[in-house]
Amino acid sequence: MGKRPVIPGIGSSKALEIRAHHLLCMQGFQGYGYSRDFQRNLEEIINHLESNPYSSLKLVADADIICQKCPHLEEGCCDKYSSPTIRDMDLKVIEKLDLEVGAIEPVQKLLSQVKAWNIHDLRDVCGECSWKDKCLLYRSKLEVDY
Ligand code: SF4
Ligand code: SF4
Repeated sequence: MGKRPVIPGIGSSKALEIRAHHLLCMQGFQGYGYSRDFQRNLEEIINHLESNPYSSLKLVADADIICQKCPHLEEGCCDKYSSPTIRDMDLKVIEKLDLEVGAIEPVQKLLSQVKAWNIHDLRDVCGECSWKDKCLLYRSKLEVDY
């Protein structure tokens, strides 16, 4: 069996920092991703959060532990989307949650809140994301709304 990846911050008592739009992406993940490393890291983070639903997340609008294994992270910044675009996705999520950047909230509460959003909210946040046809969350909302 392969060695499990070590994820910085997991296991510490501090709230894990997650860029806000990743609250949505984690719930749409079905194993696809930018690289094998990226997929394994994301799987590990999702498993950890599912096992620790009452732990806390700190919402940020910058690179997080998911980005750390993404081939699009270049010198600490995302090179797939422009900086205003990707930050805007995070800021929209934080605004819709009626929170501020840096807010710390329980995992379960945050995930269930964004899961309840409709396709109009997702369209607003997800913009031109290239994963819409693979994203389980986005697709599930398309099926019940228009
Ligand atoms: S469509 Fe893209 S940005 Fe939106 S939740 Fe899915 S993966 Fe994330
Ligand atoms: S595409 Fe950009 S925002 Fe998304 S995981 Fe990679 S570095 Fe992070």
